[in-house]
Amino acid sequence: MPGFELFGETERNEVNDVLKSGVLMRYGFDGMRNGHWKAKDLEMELQNQFEVKYAQLVSSGTAAVSMSLAIAGVGAGNEVIMPCFTFVASFEAIMMLGAIPILVDIDDTLTLDIEEVKKAITPKTKAIMPVHMCGSMANLQALKTICDDHNLVLVEDACQAIGGTYQGKALGSYGDVGSFSFDFVKTITCGEGGAIITNNDKYAQFADHYSDHGHDHVGNDRGAETHPFLGYNFRISELNAAVGLAQVRRLNDFIAIQKKHYTILRDALSDIPEVVFRTVPEGGEENYSFLNFFLPNLEVTQVVSKAFKEEGIDGCFHYYNNNWHYIKEWNHLKNLKTLYPVSEEMKKGLEYLKTKSFEKSDYYIGRNLSCLIKLSWTEAEVKERADKMVNVIKTVLNS
Ligand SMILES: *Cc1c(COP(=O)(O)O)cnc(C)c1O
Repeated sequence: MPGFELFGETERNEVNDVLKSGVLMRYGFDGMRNGHWKAKDLEMELQNQFEVKYAQLVSSGTAAVSMSLAIAGVGAGNEVIMPCFTFVASFEAIMMLGAIPILVDIDDTLTLDIEEVKKAITPKTKAIMPVHMCGSMANLQALKTICDDHNLVLVEDACQAIGGTYQGKALGSYGDVGSFSFDFVKTITCGEGGAIITNNDKYAQFADHYSDHGHDHVGNDRGAETHPFLGYNFRISELNAAVGLAQVRRLNDFIAIQKKHYTILRDALSDIPEVVFRTVPEGGEENYSFLNFFLPNLEVTQVVSKAFKEEGIDGCFHYYNNNWHYIKEWNHLKNLKTLYPVSEEMKKGLEYLKTKSFEKSDYYIGRNLSCLIKLSWTEAEVKERADKMVNVIKTVLNS
């Protein structure tokens, strides 16, 4: 992560195909487009790579997450269980539908704590949405069992973990539906974009229509298409899809580079007994976009985080007081600051956030450092970085 580091000739060539014809839209204009269907091709590529029946591209990861819930019938007043460590988009996507995000603690996987999920289930619960943060996954098998027992949908936010696997399946394809982001800083980028993947025929058809104003896409006259149900415009443009098409064909190479860099750093840090790595659920393989580890306590982690910055070791995040990724600083959510009135149902549904504490998550996030793995590093740079990291951590631990 991120794919933009290796933006190059293949990406430019795909974009130039689109620029030559000038057909920037993914639907229609068959005669003008010189046979170029970048969005369709990218969807096919996603289907093949992730071994799923369907992929539907949209304009962002946020749109993808929201759509994945919409097509599963999640709406007003329904509760969706999600982790308190994620990106703000995860709850935005739920609230767009009038549904209520129920934030629960994470554990040492840095994703949903299974026992906390069980405790959070109410008659209003409709879906469980694990977020595979920083390249690794939630315990999907345990979550699936809970979903089966309570008749809930399992919706994976795989926006940060594309290319990771669980029990031999691509992340995003284990649950009922999964979503990806192709924004500028993700492992695969379209500039802006996102996608859902699913094996469910009905969800696939809903996604196809929903992302394009509810158009049924029957025949080849857009003006004559009917609308079986309401939708929105979450379409991706051909220019964005073209970039993603080049990038996704390189996904395996990207993951291999990440794995190599990750392994050098991990091996080096393994010599320090106080460093404990994030737990990856059995049967899972990360996409190696981040190296995540825990230090003994909050104080040590704060000091190491500061020292890393001073030593020029960039891209290591201490999410404890982070505005984008952790509940602690999400005051706009806790105080329900919206530009427009929201339903009483939503207001009541979110009241719990004013008093709920997340001590378990504080314990893990307070001690966690999450280091971005770059694609553009040379091996020598990774080794130098590993040495520096080890030195900083040892110095802090011995002081
Ligand atoms: C990036 C991200 C999203 C949203 O993606 P955008 O394309 O930026 O809208 C959703 N969830 C997670 C976990 C993300 O990291």
